[in-house]
Amino acid sequence: MARTKIVATIGPGSAHSETIRRMLAAGMTVARVNFSHGDHAAHTKTVAMMREVARDEGKPLAILGDLQGPKLRLGHVKAGGMMLSPGDEIVLTPHPGQPAMIHLPHPDLIAAVQPGSRLVIGDGEVEFTVAEKRGDTLRAIVTVAGLLESRKGVNAPGTELPISCLSDKDREDLELICDLDFDYIALSFVRTAYDVEELRALMKNRPRQIPIIAKIEKSEAIENLMAIRDAADGMMVARGDLGIEMPPQELPLLQKRIIAVCNDVGKPVITATQMLQSMVEHPRPTRAEASDVANAILDGTDAVMLSGETATGKYPVEAVLMMKQIAEIMERAFPYDQWRRSHLMPHFEGDITEAISDASCTIAEEIGAAAIVSTTLSGWTAQQIARFRPRSPILAVSPSAHTQRRLSLVWGVETLLVPDFQDTDTMIQQTIQAVRESGLEPGQRVVITGGVPFGQSGHTNLIKVHTV
Ligand code: PGA
Ligand code: MN
Repeated sequence: MARTKIVATIGPGSAHSETIRRMLAAGMTVARVNFSHGDHAAHTKTVAMMREVARDEGKPLAILGDLQGPKLRLGHVKAGGMMLSPGDEIVLTPHPGQPAMIHLPHPDLIAAVQPGSRLVIGDGEVEFTVAEKRGDTLRAIVTVAGLLESRKGVNAPGTELPISCLSDKDREDLELICDLDFDYIALSFVRTAYDVEELRALMKNRPRQIPIIAKIEKSEAIENLMAIRDAADGMMVARGDLGIEMPPQELPLLQKRIIAVCNDVGKPVITATQMLQSMVEHPRPTRAEASDVANAILDGTDAVMLSGETATGKYPVEAVLMMKQIAEIMERAFPYDQWRRSHLMPHFEGDITEAISDASCTIAEEIGAAAIVSTTLSGWTAQQIARFRPRSPILAVSPSAHTQRRLSLVWGVETLLVPDFQDTDTMIQQTIQAVRESGLEPGQRVVITGGVPFGQSGHTNLIKVHTV
């Protein structure tokens, strides 16, 4: 079992119970439902199917709903596309059905760009520079030439759009995500902490607040990184769009920075997009891809993500397995001691959970503990322990199935579900019982952390060394 968690995007290539079963066996811990594709009926069916398979297999699969956000797209371009040459002059219009112009159905974008602004189409296949605004149309020059096709994505690096991060479609999708009790919700094209707060506010009348993963894929988000991290429950290094919004040569360092700021506070971070891209078509990854997954793990990512590889690719199970095998090898070589030393300084001065988490890792290291056992209601203490990357396995014992599933995104945390704790004695007893049943040998020592009295989140204040 790998300690790095694996997020797999579900799509036509994987939304079948047998494939999901095999992906779970191969190491998938989080299934991502991408709301840029598919309709509510299909998503409802897929979620029910995945929950059933996970229950059958006894695996705490987390389900992440990824909101499309304000993704900009071209309108209709004539069949077969339009071949553009460098220096070509084009006109972009918000109105459909004008044969001499290119349909860009986003008046807000047209209003926000300025002469000199760049418009990048698709994955960068085509690029325009705005030359002039004429009423509600744009005159632009082709700077990167290629084939322009219908519905291709449009990015305007550096242009600030005065629109909500949540479209009407996102708001409808959010209702479904709450109704189906997803475990995480990812918000695309986050620019500020306010975008995250706006999403959170929309959930405030719901019985359960779904944790929010902020997708970092805009230059504005990089400028506001700390505030977004503090507002969100985790982040995604969304390298697809980030690599268009920012120069791709800056991506490796940005990835390290985004991961580091999440590690600093123990919030989970996902490294996403093109990790094993060539496995969409091939049963083996390129050498560069294998290295990419390995290096993200050394950077400290909690999870690595598959997109097209599992959504539409030919080898969804093989891609998950490949990630798991790379992770297992890297985890044997992970610089645990060095990591602990450089992350030892308590981040929150005086925070008890932080101090206990740090101390439990130190004790575990000194006595060669077989596991660090965290009794946790919200999962927060387990996250704090995980951020120190202890060599000993982390076992989170919780009476909450939601917490158990959410921890499927957090590096290194295995979980055990136990009946509700009534008092401290039963908490310790049940935990010890659960640990015994989890396969530890008599004589092995474990470090147990918890909160007394149990039941209040964020009240970890106890460490006990127990010999099984
Ligand atoms: P997407 O997000 O796949 O929803 O675009 C990830 C990314 O941009 O990398
Ligand atoms: Mn994206």
